[in-house]
Amino acid sequence: MSNHLTIQTKLLHNEHKVDPLTGAVSVPIQHSSTFHQYSFDEFGEYDYARGSNPTRKALEEVIAELEGGTRGFAFASGMAAISTAFMLLSKGDHVVITEDVYGGTYRFVTEVLPRFGIEHSFVDMTKKDEVVNHMKANTKLIYIETPSNPTLKITNISEIVTIAKAHNCLTFCDNTFLTPVFQRPLELGVDVVLHSATKFLGGHSDVVAGLAVVKDEDLGKRLAFLHNSFGTILGVQDSWLVLRGLKTLQVRMHASSKAAAYIAEWLSNRQEVSCVYYPGLATHPGKEIQEQQSTSHGAVLSFEFSTREKAKIFVENVRLPVFAVSLGAVESILSYPATMSHGSMPKEEREKRGITEGLLRLSVGLEGVEDIIKDFEQAFEQMK
Ligand SMILES: *Cc1c(COP(=O)(O)O)cnc(C)c1O
Repeated sequence: MSNHLTIQTKLLHNEHKVDPLTGAVSVPIQHSSTFHQYSFDEFGEYDYARGSNPTRKALEEVIAELEGGTRGFAFASGMAAISTAFMLLSKGDHVVITEDVYGGTYRFVTEVLPRFGIEHSFVDMTKKDEVVNHMKANTKLIYIETPSNPTLKITNISEIVTIAKAHNCLTFCDNTFLTPVFQRPLELGVDVVLHSATKFLGGHSDVVAGLAVVKDEDLGKRLAFLHNSFGTILGVQDSWLVLRGLKTLQVRMHASSKAAAYIAEWLSNRQEVSCVYYPGLATHPGKEIQEQQSTSHGAVLSFEFSTREKAKIFVENVRLPVFAVSLGAVESILSYPATMSHGSMPKEEREKRGITEGLLRLSVGLEGVEDIIKDFEQAFEQMK
């Protein structure tokens, strides 16, 4: 639809606003796994639902438009999207990947890809020279995630894209933390944008889903082929849940990130906390780049206590946030990266990345910020 509309309007007034057949204002859930062909010679748009389905397609078109791409793909999970996109590579290829990548991606790259002859190098993506130095003749992909998880490091997207283009290789960007409301990597030259739609896009802790978006049409064809070959597709009920979540994405992202900025500032003034990671803080080394390439600092922050024991007391005493794996929901989610998101990473590797035993990650939801602060204050009291 029209490019001049703001993203908040596009979330509601897109091609799928009204069902052309009935006028329904909610995308119909089409359960059919197969579609009758009226002609012996020429098949219609839909034949078998692994290949395409109207409900899933609606979600795919909406995310493609939001990210500024030509084609979107809905997957059974974020990891289904990520692992399928990696299958664009072939035996003998090499990947340069951010060292603080999501734990599941780390597991896939270190334990699955090597069996297929695809090698990798982990780098600190915030250091241009380090990235350049790890590029090899067979490097076919640079994989970034910004802000990173859980230490919120910021990668300069355009700078990485320039390196990738000079080496004639692809760039993938996991955009889960900011969503197209705040950051649109395709506009900066990234080739494939990946999402765990389980997080902010779905937004309500009630669906596991993944999305991929591309701008280049040929790349779109290759990814469509893999999507259908692996069958890593999103079911129709779940597609509908993500479509519904998307309608409120802009207001949720704005409210949560505003509260996150406030909480990060507040935590950084508490003597109980030894370190706060949030790209909106004046002390954050990536603040400037973040502000150039995104329109917000996001709704996720991490903070550290000096010991595991202190983190434990805090978690056991807060009442509002749920203590759980995941992020990006209407309720605030507190998690313990060492055993949750990064539980699949060896301790030594974790510590190298700053994921200490005292580190907690907070994904800020839609509660009143004053209630969260009061809750945290009473938990701090228990630490004395
Ligand atoms: C959760 C997450 C994933 C994986 O997504 P699933 O939907 O859990 O498979 C990938 N990347 C990031 C940044 C995530 O937070």
